[in-house]
Amino acid sequence: MTAITNHMPTAELQALDAAHHLHPFTDTAALARKGARVITQGEGVWLTDSEGHRILDGMAGLWCVNLGYGREELAETAARQMRELCYYNTFFQTTHVPAIALAAKIAELAPGDLNHVFYAGSGSEANDTNIRLVRHYWAARGKPDKTVIIGRRNGYHGSTMGGASLGGMSAMHRQGGLPIPGIAHIGQPDWWSEGGEMTPGDFGLMRARELEAKILELGEDRVAAFIAEPVQGAGGVIVAPETYWPEVQRICDKYEILLIADEVITGFGRTGNWFGSQTMGIRPHIMTIAKGLSSGYVPIGGSIVCDEVAATVAAAGEFAHGYTYSGHPVAAAVALENLRILQEDGVIDHVRDVAHPYLAERWQALADHPLVGEAKLVGLMGSIALTPDKAKRARFASEAGTVGLRARERCFANDLVMRHVGDRMIIAPPLVIRPEEIDVLIDRARKSLDETYAAIKADGLLRAA
Ligand SMILES: *Cc1c(COP(=O)(O)O)cnc(C)c1O
Repeated sequence: MTAITNHMPTAELQALDAAHHLHPFTDTAALARKGARVITQGEGVWLTDSEGHRILDGMAGLWCVNLGYGREELAETAARQMRELCYYNTFFQTTHVPAIALAAKIAELAPGDLNHVFYAGSGSEANDTNIRLVRHYWAARGKPDKTVIIGRRNGYHGSTMGGASLGGMSAMHRQGGLPIPGIAHIGQPDWWSEGGEMTPGDFGLMRARELEAKILELGEDRVAAFIAEPVQGAGGVIVAPETYWPEVQRICDKYEILLIADEVITGFGRTGNWFGSQTMGIRPHIMTIAKGLSSGYVPIGGSIVCDEVAATVAAAGEFAHGYTYSGHPVAAAVALENLRILQEDGVIDHVRDVAHPYLAERWQALADHPLVGEAKLVGLMGSIALTPDKAKRARFASEAGTVGLRARERCFANDLVMRHVGDRMIIAPPLVIRPEEIDVLIDRARKSLDETYAAIKADGLLRAA
């Protein structure tokens, strides 16, 4: 067989892809008919595909390429580390400098007494670790019945058995017999879709108090932890009303429930602070990290654990848990270099002082578009809700996601990656995006919305449910 390269015709690459590559979260038969888009190169916020299009990546890959594509320092670091020590494990009383240095750096950056890192290869793995860790912790404290973990409907915590169970994606639960036992769910703080006639503030309180009701229903002595994303990502960039997080914090404190903040998206600058927990004013016992930890250049994730939980687990003997690639030296070295650049280049200041304010004004202006209801932006993660009737916050009569998918296809056609979640459109561009690139993002988004509006009007889809 001849080598498969970027120089092959797109159709040939697509045929081979369809023949041999099973894609995640994809209708394989539908993709095979259409052919996948082949991405060949990345530089800054720009991707190139096999047809030579220059695409603005409004999603930073999957919310991860926070420093943008093509950073020479990260490539150099990986090559250097591979030559020096390509792999060694951290089991059986051994360690190595990249794992040590990265853990110390993360402990320095993380708020409060979140000073201990357990490494994983991804966000899903880290959440699987969290399930075992919090149960083991309560057992070590003489409360072995505190095992149930409460998550939220439409939350996302990964795709493994554990991660998908903690998450509240019904389409995922329908496949493979999920959730696993010992996981419960409460409602999400999505005022736009579910708030009805309530004010956002009242609705936020009501959704937080579902946590209290669930704890009382299950019994305080059976609940180990509550897990949530500071801002829901895959659920559609859902920003809780301001009343929500203080009440959640009060409830976790009152009933002695561990709070796990899943910071896989919100960690490392996405919200304009190092961590989304700082933006939302919460004090978690454990944080899940991945994605932006390495800007997606290499796979790495982990759990950042507070002093008390770490000390209790340490006192309980061996924690019989770990991954071959926990603290992989190449991944750890690249992540450390990524954090160095984030810090020394002032990338988080750039998000807070430049990119967010500039994008916020232009993003908010999209709410004037006839197809757009609310526009939300926290740091550099944003969403717009598409609606046939803003005043009523109405849903479309068509199946949820029909219009969103049409809008995403217009974005693709206009060389902009913007994702849809149902009928919400979401963005999370690289944190290094510059104002003139934000202008391109907004111009392409607006053009795509105009085209979507015209098309769905012509097709009779502009109707409320
Ligand atoms: C992406 C994501 C995960 C899963 O991370 P993987 O690296 O894909 O396993 C977990 N939690 C949140 C909030 C995520 O966005």
